[in-house]
Order: sequence, then structure tokens, then C-alpha cells
Amino acid sequence: MDHFLYRNGALHAEDVPLAEIAAAVGTPFYCYSSATLVRHFKAFDEALAGMDHLICYAMKAASNQAILTLMAGLGAGMDVVSGGEYARAKAAGVPGDRIVFSGVGKTRDEMRMALSGGVRQFNLESEPEMEVLNAVALEMGVVAPVTVRVNPDVDARTHAKIATGKSENKFGIPITRAREVYARIARMPGLKAIGIDVHIGSQLTDLEPYRQAFAKVAELTEVLRADGHEIIRLDLGGGLGIPYERGNTAPPLPHEYGAMVQEMLGHTGCEIEIEPGRLIAGNAGVMVSEVIYVKQGEGRDFLIIDGAMNDLIRPAMYDAHHDIVPVIEPAPGVEQQPYDIVGPVCESGDTFAKQRMMAPLAAGDLVAFRSAGAYGAVMSSEYNTRPLIPEVLVQGDQFAVIRKRPSFEEIINRDTVPEWV
Ligand SMILES: *Cc1c(COP(=O)(O)O)cnc(C)c1O
Repeated sequence: MDHFLYRNGALHAEDVPLAEIAAAVGTPFYCYSSATLVRHFKAFDEALAGMDHLICYAMKAASNQAILTLMAGLGAGMDVVSGGEYARAKAAGVPGDRIVFSGVGKTRDEMRMALSGGVRQFNLESEPEMEVLNAVALEMGVVAPVTVRVNPDVDARTHAKIATGKSENKFGIPITRAREVYARIARMPGLKAIGIDVHIGSQLTDLEPYRQAFAKVAELTEVLRADGHEIIRLDLGGGLGIPYERGNTAPPLPHEYGAMVQEMLGHTGCEIEIEPGRLIAGNAGVMVSEVIYVKQGEGRDFLIIDGAMNDLIRPAMYDAHHDIVPVIEPAPGVEQQPYDIVGPVCESGDTFAKQRMMAPLAAGDLVAFRSAGAYGAVMSSEYNTRPLIPEVLVQGDQFAVIRKRPSFEEIINRDTVPEWV
């Protein structure tokens, strides 16, 4: 249940018809359901209820301030991967001790920012980074709480661009080097290791890779404790997948994941931290777009819509599938026909779906891309000087624009022309 349902033949976000939002804000736009965001957060919270835990929303999935404020209000922590995200988390009222700083390339400025504003921990990804953080912390006269992201060398069985837990990926430190690395940290007065971090990838549709990774983390916890390190927290990353294609195999549910975490790691007594992004926001958002033209090609019909790859890049970047549904429910029994659904950008990659079976559509009709809430708006750009599309949040029967569409003037005025041109 994601709160995007047909009612009286019209697709709604909670109690608001999407066509009504389209009339108010224009197309294309992103629309999120608060009830779905809350529901997904609570599903995880309940799944881990038997263990001391904190859910740190991986805000890179969808980082609008309204969404962050909603999450912060539920008691969520945040997983941030840049200084900008850190600033967003603070602006949304998230206390520093609930902000986890992840990412392979943290800069000195970002480290200073988090150490002065407060941080739950840094998840360290390399030995050079350890040395720099140690130096920055010493300069500031503080001790930085850290975990080391270990790379367990397991195959996450997901798309190559979002797998992160194999030894060939740029992420983390090989788990085989962990003892040496923790011993080095123990000799660095600016750092205090408090736990272990692991994140093996995104859109995992199977618990088995997690099971393998968490078995290695459990074993490492024992080994590091025997070496004299105080391991009190395990950060298990994010990555649980969502069903992008209705009727296809369903990914594991949060409670199944929670039971597995309890089974694999409950005995360590550690506080459990998880960083879900996609599972919180993915099915809580849709992108609504209007058909501009129906073009008859040779042997195929194209639906040319006003949304494009710059608005939603997942199909072009990851060959991702999004269910695309008409905003007005087709009459029962209407015969479907295949369409290639494309945007107006001058790249063949600006194709959302090929030979997709749809009820017949005409210019002016609205379509909704399901499961577009995560890695949608945040990855958009203004390529072709197409303004960033608005984001709208719905709660019950109310909706609000939470990021407005910039005018052409605003876009142009961001550039500066030197007088010598
Ligand atoms: C991207 C990322 C996440 C979130 O992944 P999802 O698949 O969106 O749940 C969590 N932790 C880290 C370190 C990440 O890079």
C-alpha cells in the first residue's frame, strides 16, 4: 500500500487527485505521500523493535527539507554523504548526535563542519581518510567517533552501478585488513572507534547477501573485541530493494530483514544502525508528466512526454524500470497497445520505456511514473535548460509545493558574464 490509488477513475495521492495538482503547479512534477513516508519509516522501526537501534534515513534518496523535517519529527537520524547534506539535516532540526557522516571522499572542511556542529560518527572508508580526520580532530581539540566501513567481498546481486560490497568496488576497507586498521585507529588520539560499518549496495532483492555480510560482521565484532576494541554499534547500511515492477518478484519485507538482523547480530548486544533510503522514499513518490505528442513511427508509436531524462535519470543511467500508469483510469477491458515512451531531450538515452503496453493515450493526457520518490528529484538537472521540476508533498487532503519550479529568468541569472566577454 503506497497511497497512490485510483478512486472514482482518477489516480490520487492520498486524498488528492493528481490531476488537481497538475492543474495547480503544471507538469512535470514530483509528488510525495507523507503517509507512505511515515509508514515505511515505522515499518523499519517496528522491525528492529527488539534491539537498541536508530534508523538513519539515507537522505541522498530524497532530500527536500519538507521530507527531512517529516522524518526528523519521527525521531529519525540521518545518513549524510556531503557537507551540503549535513547542512540540510541540521536545518531540518536533526541533532548532531543523530547524524552519521558517510562517503568515500570527505574533505577537511566537511570534517570540520561535522565536528563543530555535532556528529554521531564518521564512517571511514580509507586509511588516508583516517589520517586526515585524526589531524583535523586534533587541530580542533576533539575526539572523532568513528566506525570503519568494511568491504565484506560479497556479491549483492544487484545492478553493477549500485553494488558496493565487492572487493573491486571503491568502497570501504577490505575486511581482511580490519584488525590492522582498528589497531592503527587505537594509536590515533583524535579518533575513537566505536563500531563497524558495512553497506553492500542498493536495490537488494534478496536477504542472502546481507546474511553473508552480517555473518562476517558478527565474526569481526568478536575478533576486534578480543583485540581490546570497544565495539558498541553496528551500522548495517541501507539497500533493501523495492518492487519497481508490479507483479514481479517481491523484495524482502522490513520485518523479514529485522528478524534476520536479530538472528545474525542480536547476540553481539550492539546498538544497530541502519540507513535505508530507497525503501523509505522510493514508493512514496511519483513523477507526473503530460503527453505532448503521440508520434507514429515506422512500426512503433512514440509517446513524447514533457518529462525527460534530466528530470528522472534512472532509466537512462541504470536501465531502471518504472511502472508508468495513466492518471485517468482506463475503462475496464480496453485494449492496450505498445508505446515507446520518450522525453524531448536530444539524446536517444532519453527513453523511459520501449514497447510498453498501455491503454491508448492522446496529447494532453497525464501519466504517472511510480516508484520515483528515491533517486528521482535529487538526481535531476537542468540539462537543455529545462527548469528543475517542482516537488509537491501531500498529506491527507492537502498538498503543498515544497520546491517550486524556477523561472527562466532565475536560471539565467545564476550565470555571470564577465565584462571582458
Ligand atoms: C546510498 C547509501 C545508502 C542508502 O541506500 P538505499 O539503497 O537507498 O537504501 C545507505 N548507506 C550508504 C553508505 C549509502 O551510500
